[in-house]
Amino acid sequence: MIPYGRQHITADDEAAVLAVLRSDCITQGPAVPRFEQALAARVGAAHGVAVCNATAGLHIACLALGLGPGDRLWTSPNTFVASANCGLSCGATVDFVDIDPLSLNISVPALAAKLQAAEASGTLPKVVVPVHFAGQSCDMQAIHALARRYGFRIIEDASHAVGGSYLGQPVGNCRFSDLTVFSFHPVKIITTAEGGMVMTNDATLAARLARLRSHGITRDPACMDTVPEGPWVYEQVELGLNYRLTDLQAALGWSQLAQLDQSVARRHQIARHYDSALAGLPLVTPWQSPDAQSALHLYPVQVDPARSPLNRRQLFDGLRSAGIGVNVHYIPVHTQPHYRRLGFAPGQFPAAEAYYAQALSLPMFPTLTNAQQGAVIAALRQLLR
Ligand SMILES: *Cc1c(COP(=O)(O)O)cnc(C)c1O
Repeated sequence: MIPYGRQHITADDEAAVLAVLRSDCITQGPAVPRFEQALAARVGAAHGVAVCNATAGLHIACLALGLGPGDRLWTSPNTFVASANCGLSCGATVDFVDIDPLSLNISVPALAAKLQAAEASGTLPKVVVPVHFAGQSCDMQAIHALARRYGFRIIEDASHAVGGSYLGQPVGNCRFSDLTVFSFHPVKIITTAEGGMVMTNDATLAARLARLRSHGITRDPACMDTVPEGPWVYEQVELGLNYRLTDLQAALGWSQLAQLDQSVARRHQIARHYDSALAGLPLVTPWQSPDAQSALHLYPVQVDPARSPLNRRQLFDGLRSAGIGVNVHYIPVHTQPHYRRLGFAPGQFPAAEAYYAQALSLPMFPTLTNAQQGAVIAALRQLLR
């Protein structure tokens, strides 16, 4: 089976992990800050706070911005559930803004209209989470302008987008946001098995994130309520969690950074080949923003129901039977049972639902061989004759 995504672990990666395994500290040693500093430098952010996964990163990002009961968080329905769950985990109310059918990212006109209505009814969000779907940045300049006008904070869910850029600058530099969260799950661009990082340019937010990641505990006398009795004293000054990344994982992530540019370049090569090879088929291929260079985590196509002999389900089954591990991204979050029980219903975000009905993610990962890609294309041609 050719998967839709897969990690690429090199001999250098193995050596980096092994070096930590043989060292004194397999967690809370020097590999975590080394990885944080390297990625922060790579994406042009002042600070990076490594966490055990992006879900944890989104959670403490919300906590650090003070999101809590009575507050509202808005995000895109075309995402993994974690982009919305972080709001619920803080006790806040979650709502969605429909997507733009071309970019498949949060629609800026829909966001502007919803903000205008929310201002009138006194229900403005505290936090908006734009999700860079498939690795292509949202229109952050426009979202940032709305944040200034309406006073909300921005957390970019860049789980798909490390290695991508927007207006010629790396995603993660937080030029148009408060915080940016990356994921290092094995299907994403670089991996630490499980892992994530929160980027920010705000030193106060970075310190708060680091504290929330480790039980709400500080060892810095300047941050303590009382003068410490001795050098062993730590104080828990707020309620935090254990969301730390291990040194083993951080060493892997640090080593994986070496292949980031190459990985994204290979993904672009694969995408350009799909674009041209699929041109005659009844499929809608991904749109490329002139403002952004996608990291191409995914290559999502849409079945064109007016022209296709097969519907999405039939094409999915046909490809799976041919040994091609296609997938579907994403079931609109508001249609999940947990969200339905909170009052959401199908029909509320029609663009996300219409996209989902036809969506199919084709294999996209840097070690996909030309022969494997050829097999994917041949299977599509055969099935869609
Ligand atoms: C993968 C993903 C997450 C969660 O990442 P984990 O590291 O697995 O917790 C969050 N948001 C989006 C959009 C994702 O694709």
